[in-house]
Formats: sequence, C-alpha cells, structure tokens
Amino acid sequence: MNVVIIGAGIGGLSAGIALQQLGYSVKIYEKFSSFKLLGAGLTIWRNALLGLRELGIAEAALSDSSMHSLASLRNWDGAYLSDPNAVSLPLPITEVVRVFPRATVQHSLLDQLAPDTVQLGQALETFTQTDTGITATFNTGHTVNCDLLIGADGIHSKVRQQLHPHSTPVYAGYTAWRAIVPFDQAQCVAGETWGPRKRFGMFPIRHDHMYWYATEAAPANEYAANGEKKHLQQSFADWHAPIQDLLAVTPDSAILRNDVYDIAPLKTWGTGNVTLLGDAAHAMTPNLGQGACQAIESAVVLRNTLRDASNVTQALRAYEAKRIKRTTPMIKQCRQIGKMGQWHNPAGVFLRNTLMQSLPAGLQQKQLLKTLDVAF
Ligand SMILES: Cc1cc2nc3c(=O)[nH]c(=O)nc-3n(C[C@H](O)[C@H](O)[C@H](O)COP(=O)(O)OP(=O)(O)OC[C@H]3O[C@@H](n4cnc5c(N)ncnc54)[C@H](O)[C@@H]3O)c2cc1C
Repeated sequence: MNVVIIGAGIGGLSAGIALQQLGYSVKIYEKFSSFKLLGAGLTIWRNALLGLRELGIAEAALSDSSMHSLASLRNWDGAYLSDPNAVSLPLPITEVVRVFPRATVQHSLLDQLAPDTVQLGQALETFTQTDTGITATFNTGHTVNCDLLIGADGIHSKVRQQLHPHSTPVYAGYTAWRAIVPFDQAQCVAGETWGPRKRFGMFPIRHDHMYWYATEAAPANEYAANGEKKHLQQSFADWHAPIQDLLAVTPDSAILRNDVYDIAPLKTWGTGNVTLLGDAAHAMTPNLGQGACQAIESAVVLRNTLRDASNVTQALRAYEAKRIKRTTPMIKQCRQIGKMGQWHNPAGVFLRNTLMQSLPAGLQQKQLLKTLDVAF
C-alpha cells in the first residue's frame, strides 16, 4: 500500500508513523523547504498522551512538563471563578494533562518516522483519483501516484478545498498571542483569566519557564503599530499579577501572533481512497487545547480502522464517521467558549462569571472526563 500524506504538521507526522506501523509505504509531502519547529506551548491531554504512546513515542520524550494541578479560572482582578482543587481527578495530574513546547512534540514524532519519509519543499497543487489510483501534483511539477492520499495540510487545506470547495476557514473574531519565557513558576497560578473581550492564560512549562497566551477581540490582520508587546502591556495594564511581569520579560521577537479560525463541522470528509486528518478535517478554535490532540487521536483511529478492515475505501468511511462524531461537538463547544470569552457587555460578563462560579465541580469533572475518554 503506497500512501501519500500532504502536510508534515503534528497530524501528518502522526499519521505517517501510524501507517508505517501497519507496514505501509508512506511519504509525507510538506510545502516548506525546512522544518518550522515554531510555536509556543501545547497542552497534550490524556487522550493524546495515550495516542502518542500508541505511536511508540518514548516516555522519556514525554516527561518534559511541569503541570502540578488543573487550570484555575480567574477574573481580570484576580478573583477565582473556579477552583481546580474542587475537581477530583481519577488519575495523577501528569496523566491528565501535560504542557510541552510544540517543538518537543514535533521532534518526538519526526524521530519516530522511517528515514527519508518527509519530502520538503513540495506544495500540493491538485490531485486526481481514478479506478486505478490517485495522482498528486506539486508546485515543483513533481507528480506521484499512490493508493491512499491523506490531506493533513492544515486549516487552509488544498485537499479539503478540492473535496469541499464551500468549506472555508471562519474567523472567530479574536487574535491570540503566545510565548514561552524563563520565569519563576512559584509566582504563577496555572490557568486562565477572563475579562471583557480578553483572556490571558499562563502555564508552567519545562524547568523554570512559563508559557503564556493572550486573546483579544479584534478584526483579523490588525497588527499593532508599536509592536505586539507594547500593545499587550497596555491592553492588560490593570490585570492581576504577574501578567505585567510576564509581558515585561518577553521580547517582542518571542511573541507569536495568530488570528483564530476554525471550520464549520463537515458532514463527510473524503471520497474513494482520499481522506482528511487534523485541522484539514476538524480545525477548532484553541479553547479546549484539543486541536493537535485530536489530530493525534485521528491518526491512531485511522491506523486501527485500516488494520481491522479488508476494504480500504470502506475503512476510510468508517474512520471518518467515527472521527466526525467525536470532533463535531468539540468544534461547537470551542466556538461557544470562545464567544463567551469575548463578551464585553458588563451584564453579560457578570452573568458569565456568576455561572462559572456556581458550576458544580462534579459537572466540570464529567465534562473533562468525556473529552479525555478516548476509544481508538
Ligand atoms: C493559538 C493556538 C493555540 C493552540 N493550542 C493548542 C494546544 O494547546 N493543544 C492542542 O492540542 N492544540 C492547540 N492548537 C491547535 C493546534 O495547533 C492544531 O490543531 C494543530 O497544529 C493541527 O495540526 P495539523 O498537522 O492538522 O495542521 P498544521 O499544524 O497546520 O500542519 C499542516 C502542515 O501542512 C503543510 N501544508 C499546508 N498546505 C500544504 C500543501 N498544499 N502542500 C504540502 N504541505 C502543505 C503546512 O506547511 C503544515 O506543515 C492551538 C492553535 C492555536 C491557533
């Protein structure tokens, strides 16, 4: 079985490993000519942690995390809206969630692939599918034939565009900034803070570092005239400590800025022996910290569904049905949380905060366990 995967993000790399475990011949085509081991922190929840273990990622590579408790939720003045200690976990925290530099996860996945799996500098332009197979054509003029094509080419997926021309990324109405900085973790409480139209999150990551992120309602592509750091320092000026201290030690060059998008859930993904995986199929806003986790989950489910089936095309439809059922509610839930997080009307903010404070711990636990419960 010759497999072509488009895109060497976390989804494409995970799928590559998963299908090599079945003995398939896999090539991954990536549009960039070098690896962009970019990004800030990445929450890896239990479902993806189990997925990474399924992919054979060594425990040593997954130990680089400093989470000591679940995240708290606070108001911009520092008042607590939820107490993570009230949620009783059936597992140690390190088995529930870990926070890694994104590059750590990418490196671990890359190391697990057979040599020369990834072909860099090849941007897919189009593919054709006939009864005898699939041909992918790249911007370099290179063409390749395969038995199975997986579009893991992210939210702006060319493969999805060709399968579903009407599915386009939807701007969520807010921008996210992220960075990892050396910082005394003892000064920080892991969690997220909500204020009118804005949010700020901080999590311990690696030894003596903090991962922070901020979101703010804004039109897309609105870059700060005086730099993103200055903008954030002004925007979060009166928020609780140590937000200003975290921003102060962050160089402008370390700040990643992304407008936040998702796609409306699709009812079908692929056709014939072409399918989708990761953000190409189920891009969600980052409000549950599950986008990459779901890409990893999809890779393992794809492997297991193909392994247990006698017909590849039918297996792909079964994989899609399973994954659509799992990811559609998450896309919707992420949208809802994102919208609520951007409220600015004082009555709405008061209502939201009261609601969060009165949410029973049992309900929070139930919701969390539902997300983390995975059947590969
Ligand atoms: C602010 C923010 C915070 C987030 N935090 C978290 C978190 O804490 N936890 C979590 O699980 N998720 C998080 N996510 C989501 C996560 O980043 C994504 O869901 C995940 O990276 C998707 O992986 P992917 O491989 O599907 O897509 P991508 O990472 O987008 O990879 C797609 C790859 O395909 C390549 N490509 C694109 N087009 C082509 C083409 N035509 N030909 C060849 N190659 C192509 C791209 O260059 C890229 O390498 C966050 C997202 C954002 C925006």
